Amino acid sequence: MDNNKNAPKNRYALIIMLCIIVCTALVFVLPKKSVYGDELREKIQKEEEAVKAAAGEKAKVNQSIALAKALIGSLKSGKADVESYIEDLDLAIGQIHDNIDEIDSMISANEIEEKKAQAELKEAEEKSRAQYAEMKKQLRFIYRNRFGGMEDILFSARDMGDFLNKATYIEALSEYDRKKLQEYIACVEDVKEKKEKLEEVRDSLVEQRREKQKESEDMEGLIEDKQKELSSYDAQIGSKEQQIAEYEKMAAEQDAQIKALEAALAASKKALEEAERPKYDGGMFTMPCPGYTRISDEFGMREHPTLGIKKMHNGVDFAAPTGTSILAAYDGVVAATGYSSSMGNYVMIDHGDDLLTVYMHASSVSVGTGQQVSAGQKIAAVGSTGRSTGPHLHFGVRKNGAYVNPWGYLK
Ligand SMILES: [Zn+2]
Repeated sequence: MDNNKNAPKNRYALIIMLCIIVCTALVFVLPKKSVYGDELREKIQKEEEAVKAAAGEKAKVNQSIALAKALIGSLKSGKADVESYIEDLDLAIGQIHDNIDEIDSMISANEIEEKKAQAELKEAEEKSRAQYAEMKKQLRFIYRNRFGGMEDILFSARDMGDFLNKATYIEALSEYDRKKLQEYIACVEDVKEKKEKLEEVRDSLVEQRREKQKESEDMEGLIEDKQKELSSYDAQIGSKEQQIAEYEKMAAEQDAQIKALEAALAASKKALEEAERPKYDGGMFTMPCPGYTRISDEFGMREHPTLGIKKMHNGVDFAAPTGTSILAAYDGVVAATGYSSSMGNYVMIDHGDDLLTVYMHASSVSVGTGQQVSAGQKIAAVGSTGRSTGPHLHFGVRKNGAYVNPWGYLK
């Protein structure tokens, strides 16, 4: 009775012991590896974010450069407009100066005419004065002899006109002489009028010249303003170019920063890859087809079942019904899965230190390349694909590139 009761108690104690061992393994072995990987993954994520942020900053700087360049473009086109306006003004000033030259030559011609008129006037005045003097001399002689007393009236005349009016009453005055003096007086009047007209023309020309001069000066003032505008454009363009140079320096610095961040990221990724690469710790494999211990073909030389020749059988064949779970013999990373005419559907697991297990003839495969698997995890199902005579698992072990006897690793 006691034995019957103690037996389950011992079994429970054994289970509890096993649990403690497993938990210890979980606490000390598994997390150690994954925590390092997690740290790396977290680091990689942060580094990727940093690269992205730096790239974003650089994009902003590039945008600023593009904006400044566009601004320079519009400033340059504004400057070109002002320059062409200045050219137009220069042209207009040239035309005004041509006009002024024309007016100046007209003024010169007018001056010559005026001088001529002045000379003519002088001559006419001299002629009339001489005629007047001659007439007075003759009349004095006549009046002294014939009209005593009238002389005083006549010679009190204010001017030649007055004299002539008074002289008309004097019969004795020579008709010829009187006509001559009248002609001379008329000539003086004509020349005076001509001279006055020339003076008027001169005044108008001088006024025109003054106006043109003013127009030219106004335009020169405008050009001066426009030149100032040009200087302002140049200053703005210069400042934008300086800004671009600064931005470009920033972009270059950011490039260097991005490069450094990318290098760090690549190093972290490589470290993670290294960390996640399986490392074989020397442990024993679990059975890949537990419960099916009938060996249909052993590892070693044998007569090939289909080819009929002596050949090396490089694995152990476990006979099992189609669909039976095939389990990973040990922790590792799936190195390859696929189909070949000889292996059928196969899975290859890398356990590190150049130790691999191979599972062949599967009816289906449930893992993918690069996937991490742990010992006892289902990776495929038994089948008879490839060169096979019936449903079984061909289990092979490769060490340093060559097949070795799997029983050296199996429990
Ligand atoms: Zn085989």
